[in-house]
Amino acid sequence: MELTHRERDCLVFIGNDIKGGFPDRLIDLSKKLKVKPPTTIQLLDKLESKGLISRKGGMVILTDNGKKIYHDVTESHRIIEVMLYSYGIPKGECCEVASEIDYVFKHDLIERLSSNLGNPKLCPHGNPVNEEL
Ligand SMILES: [Zn+2]
Repeated sequence: MELTHRERDCLVFIGNDIKGGFPDRLIDLSKKLKVKPPTTIQLLDKLESKGLISRKGGMVILTDNGKKIYHDVTESHRIIEVMLYSYGIPKGECCEVASEIDYVFKHDLIERLSSNLGNPKLCPHGNPVNEEL
């Protein structure tokens, strides 16, 4: 699944908020993404056409496919964080750098990295590598 960096951010925000128990509305997402609502609508249209989200009563939710991509991006993010952290990079910087590149790593590369790192269960922040929604 090809995602742009903004689509990736949007999907991750939606997934994080579903996890937190508060599905996002358009206005929340615009604030988090720091873009105007029309730009968010375009992003959501894109994600919907890729079958990753649906909109119900003003709320944005992830489809099963969207949940799978959220899982994979999150796993990739946290494995990259563990890898960078093991080289002495501070946690916050690990997260920043991982956010820029997590969505472009192929899943099998992440699996090989994970295995070489001893299949870590948690990222440096203590979040689970395998995040199920
Ligand atoms: Zn983390």
